Amino acid sequence: MGGNHLFDLFAAAVPRPDKVALDLPGGDAVSYGALLGLSARLAGVLAARGLEPGDRVAVQVEKSWQALALYLACLRAGGAFLPLNTAYTGTEVDFFLGDAAPRLFVCDPVRAASATKTAARHGVLHVETMDAAGAGSLADAARRMPARHDPVARGEKDLAAILYTSGTTGRSKGAMLSHGNLASNARALVEAWRFTPDDVLLHALPIFHIHGLFVAGNVALLSGASMIFLPKFDLDRVMAEVPRATVMMGVPTFYNRMITRGDLTPELCKGMRLFISGSAPLSAEVHKDFAARTGHAICERYGMTETGINTSNPYEGERRAGTVGLPLSGVTLRITEPASGRPLPDRDIGMIEVKGPNVFSGYWRMPEKTAAEFRDGYFITGDMGMVDARGYVSIVGREKDLIITGGLNVYPAEVESRIDEIPGVAECAVIGVPHPDMGEGVVAVVAPGNGTSLCEADVVAPLEAVLARFKQPKRVIVVDALPRNTMGKIEKTKLRDAYRDLFQGQG
Ligand code: AMP
Repeated sequence: MGGNHLFDLFAAAVPRPDKVALDLPGGDAVSYGALLGLSARLAGVLAARGLEPGDRVAVQVEKSWQALALYLACLRAGGAFLPLNTAYTGTEVDFFLGDAAPRLFVCDPVRAASATKTAARHGVLHVETMDAAGAGSLADAARRMPARHDPVARGEKDLAAILYTSGTTGRSKGAMLSHGNLASNARALVEAWRFTPDDVLLHALPIFHIHGLFVAGNVALLSGASMIFLPKFDLDRVMAEVPRATVMMGVPTFYNRMITRGDLTPELCKGMRLFISGSAPLSAEVHKDFAARTGHAICERYGMTETGINTSNPYEGERRAGTVGLPLSGVTLRITEPASGRPLPDRDIGMIEVKGPNVFSGYWRMPEKTAAEFRDGYFITGDMGMVDARGYVSIVGREKDLIITGGLNVYPAEVESRIDEIPGVAECAVIGVPHPDMGEGVVAVVAPGNGTSLCEADVVAPLEAVLARFKQPKRVIVVDALPRNTMGKIEKTKLRDAYRDLFQGQG
C-alpha cells in the first residue's frame, strides 16, 4: 500500500518538530509537533467513529488552530474534509448535510442541539463539537487517543475535500478536490511565490474557503513556514502584525482598508517580501496607491473553488495592475467563444477555460452538471477574459454579469475601472437590469469615499469622454457601501434584485 499523498508531503516538509507552525493572538505559539500531534489524536477519534476512506467530515466551526488540525486529521484518516461557512444558517446546513451525507458533522457547541436533529434526519451518525478555542466533545475524545496515527493510504486521485461553491446562481455545488489537485497546486504556488521555511505568512482569511485553507494554509504547510493565525481580518491587528510577517495573502478588501491608514509606510513593510491578492478584482487604483505607499506591487492572482489557483503575476518581472498574470506551471489556459468553444486569438474577449493537475474532477453527485462544464478536457470557468500579447490574463467579469444592451456587449469591469478613476469614488459595481427598450440597461452603483459626497452628474460627466455611449451607465445610484460576501466579492445578484424595476415604464 502506498502512502497518503497530501498528508505525507506536509509531514515531510516539517523542518523540525519544535518549529513554530502557528503564532496565535495573545502570544501563544503552536509548534509543528503539536499541530501534527493533535491531528493524530483527532484522526484517532475519526477512526473510532467509523470513518472509512472517502467518508465526508462536514465542519462548521470558528477559525482556530485546532480546526486546522482537524483538516489534517481528516486527510490523515483518509476522509474528505468538507468545511462550511460559519455564516450558513440551519436551513443551509440542512441542505449540505442532506447532499453530502457526511459520516460526522462537527459544529460549534451553540448549534449542537439543532444540528443533532438535522443530522438525525439525514442519517448523519455523529455530531461533535468544537468551539472557537478548540474545546468541545472532539477535543475531549482526542485527549484519550494516542499521539500517533498511521496515515491511511490515499493516492493522487483520491478525494481529499469537498468545497461547496458560493452558489451565486442556482444551488451550491460541491467541488470534489483530490489529493493530487491540492498537492500540485500548493507545489506550483510554493515555487511561483518562492516560499521557504523562513517565511511568516500573515493569515487573516477564513479557513472554510479555498483561499484561506488551501491557497494560504497548504502553501505555508508545504513549505514548513510559520503563520500568524488571526481569527479574522481586524485592521488594527493586521497593521500591528505586518512588521513580523514576510508574506501576506488577502482579498482586495484587506488592501482597500490598509491604504486608509497613515501608518502604512515602507518602514512598516520592511520585512515583507510579498503581498498577494485574489478572490475578487483588485482595482488598479488600489494597486497603484499601495505601491506608492509601501514600494510593493501587490501580486494579483486568479483562482476558484473548482481549480485552485490558475494564474499569478510573476514574482520576478512586471506585476501588471488590472491583470491576474500568467498561467502557473502545469496549467493551460485558453480563451474561447462561449457558445461554440472555438479558441479565440490574443486580445479577444471570451470564456476562460483551464486544464491542469489543479482542476477538480467534478461536482459531488452531479455527473450531468460536471459533464456540461468541461469541453476537450478544459474546465469552462464561467469567467470572461482575454490574454494579451505577453500572455498576461485579464478578467472582465463573470459570464452571467455580462450586460447586453441593445444587442451590444458591455463588460462591467471596463466601466468599473473607469468609474474607479473618478475622484471621490471609493468603490463601484456596474450591473445590467431589465430595460423595456434595450433589453438591459447599464446601471452603476457607486459608493463615495469617507467624507466625500457624489451625485449622478459627477460620475456621468467624466465617462462621456472615455467610454462609448452604449457603455455609459443610464443611471448612477449613489449608496453608502456595496454589499459584499465574506470573501470580499461584491454581491451583484443583490444589486440586480434591488434595482430590477429601475427602468420599468420607460421605453
Ligand atoms: P470562489 O470559487 O469563491 O473562489 O470564486 C471564484 C471566482 O472569483 C472566480 O471564478 C472569479 O470570478 C473570481 N476571482 C477570483 N480571483 C479573482 C481576481 N484576481 N480577479 C477577478 N476575479 C477573481
